[in-house]
Formats: sequence, C-alpha cells, structure tokens
Amino acid sequence: MYDDYKNILEELKTHSHFRDLKDYEGKDEKYIYFKGKKLLNLSSNNYLNFADNEKITKEFLDTVGTKYSFGSASARLLTGTLPVYNELENLLSGLYGKEAALLYNSGYHANVGISSALCKKGDVVFSDKLNHASIIDGMKLSEGKFFRFPHNDMVALEKLIQRERKNFRNAFIITESVFSMDGDIEDLKTIVQLKKKYDCNLIIDEAHAFGVFGNKGLGVAEELGIIDDVDLIVGTFGKAVGSMGAFAVGSKTLIDFLINKSRSFIFSTSLPPINIGFTKWIIENKFPIVTEKCKRMLSISKTMGSASHIVPVIVGENKDTVDLCEVLFHNGYFTLPIRPPTVPVGTSRLRLSLTCEIVEDDLKMLREILADAKLLVK
Ligand SMILES: *Cc1c(COP(=O)(O)O)cnc(C)c1O
Repeated sequence: MYDDYKNILEELKTHSHFRDLKDYEGKDEKYIYFKGKKLLNLSSNNYLNFADNEKITKEFLDTVGTKYSFGSASARLLTGTLPVYNELENLLSGLYGKEAALLYNSGYHANVGISSALCKKGDVVFSDKLNHASIIDGMKLSEGKFFRFPHNDMVALEKLIQRERKNFRNAFIITESVFSMDGDIEDLKTIVQLKKKYDCNLIIDEAHAFGVFGNKGLGVAEELGIIDDVDLIVGTFGKAVGSMGAFAVGSKTLIDFLINKSRSFIFSTSLPPINIGFTKWIIENKFPIVTEKCKRMLSISKTMGSASHIVPVIVGENKDTVDLCEVLFHNGYFTLPIRPPTVPVGTSRLRLSLTCEIVEDDLKMLREILADAKLLVK
C-alpha cells in the first residue's frame, strides 16, 4: 500500500530533506524547553513576546472575563460576524487611514484569497522571487498570468514591467517588506515609483514587520511614509501579535470585491471571537508601549548586520550549519538550520530571529561562538 508515497519519503530521507515534528517540552515568552534544557528561543516569530506569555494571557482574561467565546460557528458572510470583528476591522482601517479592512483566518488564507480574486483573466502579477509560498499559491489559483523578478532587483523589475505591462489589463506588484529568510527589506520607495509610472496596483505583505516597524507598529510602509501609495497592505496576527489571523487594508472598492470574490474568506468559519478580541486588545493596549523595546531590538540586530530583527548567519555547507546549531544548543540557544531547497545551495544558514525582551547580555555567549567561527564578527 502507498508505494508511491513511501518511495517519495525515502527519496526525501536520502537527500536529508525529510521533515518531522519535534517534541518540545514547552515554551514561555522568551525560552523554549527541549531535551531537558532551557534555551533562549531564537527561532520563533514571537517578536514582541506576547505569545506563550502567562502574564499577558492573565491580564487579557482578567479584563475580558467570559465576554468572548471559543468558536464563531459560522463564516463571516453568514452569522460569523460578531461586533468584535467589525471593531477590529475599524481599528485597523483607522490606524492605517484607509477606507476599509478585512480579516482573514491566517496570512496563508489572505494571500491565497487576495491575488486569486483580484488578478483576473487578462491581468498580470509581478512578484518578488522570494515571496512567501502563500503568495505563490494565490497566483497559481488566479486566472491571470504571473512573472517573478529577481529578489529586490529594481532594474530587473522595471525591465520586466516595460516588456510585459502593455500586454495586460490590470497589473499588480506583490512583495513582502521584511523577508523571512534573509531579513532584508524590499526597496519599497522605488517600487512605489514604478507602480505609479506604469499604472500598477501595489500589494505589500508585512507579516514580519507588523508590530515591529513604524511608530505605531504598522510596518515598513508606515516607517517610510508610503501607506497612501499602497493599494493593499496585508499583515498577520500570528507573529508579533502572538494571536492568529491576518488582515488586508485598502480602498472600499477592493475590500468589497474581496468580501464578494475571495474564496478563502468566503468559505471558511471565522476565527474564534476570543482570538479576535485578543488581537484587538494587544493592538490597542500593547502596541503603543513596545515601541521603545522594538527600537532596542532593531539596534541590536543592526550590530549583527541585519536591517531587521531577522538575522541570517550564512555558514555555507549543510554539515557546518548543523554543527554550529549543536554548539549553540549546548550553550543555551535554540536555533534551526536552514538548508536547501529553502535557501540556495552553498548558503545554508542559521536564521536568528530576535524578540524584543532579549537584552545584550542574553547574546554575549552567542556572539563569542559566532566570532570563534569567524561569522558575524561585527
Ligand atoms: C508567516 C507568513 C505568512 C503566513 O501567515 P500565517 O498567519 O502564518 O498563515 C504569509 N506571508 C508571509 C510573508 C509570512 O511570513
């Protein structure tokens, strides 16, 4: 039985690409417990330390009591829209100064649902080569055509647009702001110029930046002052917010269109009200007070050579990367090796993601280990 699947799995094992789930013993806001050790967690998206945080959970539950339930029992368009959903959407559209906002059940739902709906037959998407799988899947589901441009290469993007734009009706440029594997930031100012010059719509996925960048925590577009130039900004709540879900903000026309045509929005039960309530509570009460800590986090990552809180440590070979992970593990740090095909061959790396409660002292030993390995000697 299942010979095809067994063969494929064997093939994965032969090439060291087989993946399995790990038995972590627990997590709290800053540490992860694994193989009997307490380790500083440098592999999570818990950038503001709000997830797995007993103090935060208690404060929230003490505030809201039994106001929110654990299931909405319906999709949004049926009976799955309680007041808190509209309140969160209004909060987001207000913060961004956009006409409307729409919640999705996850960033994956958002990206799959947005480009598949907006990019119709005869339309085109220009997408950064390193964009998240959910953006790629959304384009594959759309009836339009898509082209990928080399990562953050504005010259190549402009050439591509010059060549292809005229052959299509509506055009979209889709990119992330902070990229998850390299921690670098797309040249959004140039993209805004290109979008205007060639009459394209611009969609920016701020999954890693929402909560971290900008004075209000709205992302890189806020930091650069270009929110008004972006047609749709997507953000997620599963990372910095420590909750679950995602949103898109933009014009009323686009949001109305998504409500009517975005299948991942329409055909799925809305998130539990308690999650929506938690997300709203965090954005209203905690975003304003973590700004300083975010700035400290970003200044630490800057000393490690990264423009964001995600710091790639490029080692090169697979084995050296796994060995380095092991050394760090024995010194109290939890990191994961990132290998091909996730990243190009010869650029195996550790991806350190900082969180805002980390202080310089937490990283002392890590810096020494990396310096010994002649990595990140800054
Ligand atoms: C994590 C991520 C997503 C997916 O968000 P989920 O809420 O985890 O489904 C989408 N886009 C980018 C850029 C991401 O990093």
